[in-house]
Amino acid sequence: MAGLSRSAPTAPKLRVPGRVVRDPDLVKRARKVLPGGVNSPVRAMDQIGREPIFIERAAGCEITDREGHTYVDWVGSWGPLILGHADPGVVEAVKTAAGRGTSFGAATEAEVELAEMVASRMPSVEMIRMTSSGTEAAMSAVRLARAITRRDVIVKFAGAYHGHADGLLAEAGSGVATLGVPSGPGITAAQSGDTVVVDWNDRDGVTAALERHDVAALIAEPVAANMGVIPPEPGFLEFLREATRENGAMLIFDEVITGFRVAPGGAQQLYGVDPDLTVIGKILGGGLPAAAFGGPAVHMERVAPAGDVYQAGTLSGNPLAVAAGMATLRRLDRAAYVRLGELTDRLRAGLGGLTEDRALQVTSAPGLVTLFFSPRPVSDFREAVDCDLEAHARFCRLMLDRGVYLPPSQFEAWFVSLAHDEASIDRTLRAAGESLDRVL
Ligand SMILES: *Cc1c(COP(=O)(O)O)cnc(C)c1O
Repeated sequence: MAGLSRSAPTAPKLRVPGRVVRDPDLVKRARKVLPGGVNSPVRAMDQIGREPIFIERAAGCEITDREGHTYVDWVGSWGPLILGHADPGVVEAVKTAAGRGTSFGAATEAEVELAEMVASRMPSVEMIRMTSSGTEAAMSAVRLARAITRRDVIVKFAGAYHGHADGLLAEAGSGVATLGVPSGPGITAAQSGDTVVVDWNDRDGVTAALERHDVAALIAEPVAANMGVIPPEPGFLEFLREATRENGAMLIFDEVITGFRVAPGGAQQLYGVDPDLTVIGKILGGGLPAAAFGGPAVHMERVAPAGDVYQAGTLSGNPLAVAAGMATLRRLDRAAYVRLGELTDRLRAGLGGLTEDRALQVTSAPGLVTLFFSPRPVSDFREAVDCDLEAHARFCRLMLDRGVYLPPSQFEAWFVSLAHDEASIDRTLRAAGESLDRVL
């Protein structure tokens, strides 16, 4: 990486003796045919020193494994399931869509309607291009920004995750940090050389990066949620807006998590800061694979076939994913956000009560909560990596024993859904109190 980047701080891999292996045969079978037994790294549960849990089914805020253990679920498929699991409206919409055909590779009215819904919600978005994953959407947004600015360098924040496109993997938080995997192998010097990494909430770092490099775009999660939840310090997003505008670089907000979660129109609406391009995903597909990048027409009309920046996808705008996304967005009215705020506050306040006299910090944004095992407030990735990961791992295992399924990583958010309720939160808080008594 060029300039300001450093080597990635990495989390140690934990080896816990005597961990429970509930289904050794399936774990063995899985590891024979899937690297690490999983199709996405953090599911392996390595950071909390245990085997992956194999899920059989889920409903509402509860998830059930193959042995019939049911847990209160705070992962929610890592963000998409803001209505909870197997929401009847979403399931019905998907069934109806599937009955009409699962994919056409042609234009549909539903995609137009979903794009209209997004444009009407997100202040800076007039047009979108859909993809199947957030990774593709972020990669394509970067390509568009480079085409528009005719510059090469991308500035990203340490601990921010923008999917696994080569140039965006540097110090990428989330699963990359969880596994202690350096972001280098398989990535060319040219690709990483065009990425500059700065610390979240570090204005001087951003200023220096913009001065020293020919920056096409600065990409940010407007509320960092892949190093644990770390909201921007007051004025930081406004600063990013000003600094990039003055410099001629584009500002990309990666709202794959925050979009339709922290507010109807995402963090850009919550904080009143409009980016040049926006990346969305997760909730957009309502639990099916869908994501998108978008922005004002003047930028988006550079995308093929309207413009000269190539971008495509066999299953982009897939009718099942569009149906699930629409069924989800339709339910996210004003009252839904009030309720999501109440539930988040209850969880946050309850956890806050448990942090007294303990080396713990609670952070949150609407629909997102993190419990950092740290004696000090956490404002960037380095401070997140300094957390007591051993204590966090023990805590997560004790919570599983008490029927609460937390993200098995210190660097991931707890995702609050509208299927959670006072009872499931109180059950979680009771389990957290008991577990913390044994850990800290
Ligand atoms: C999940 C995530 C992505 C990647 O999305 P995928 O659909 O997993 O490829 C990108 N950015 C952020 C902020 C994310 O949380």
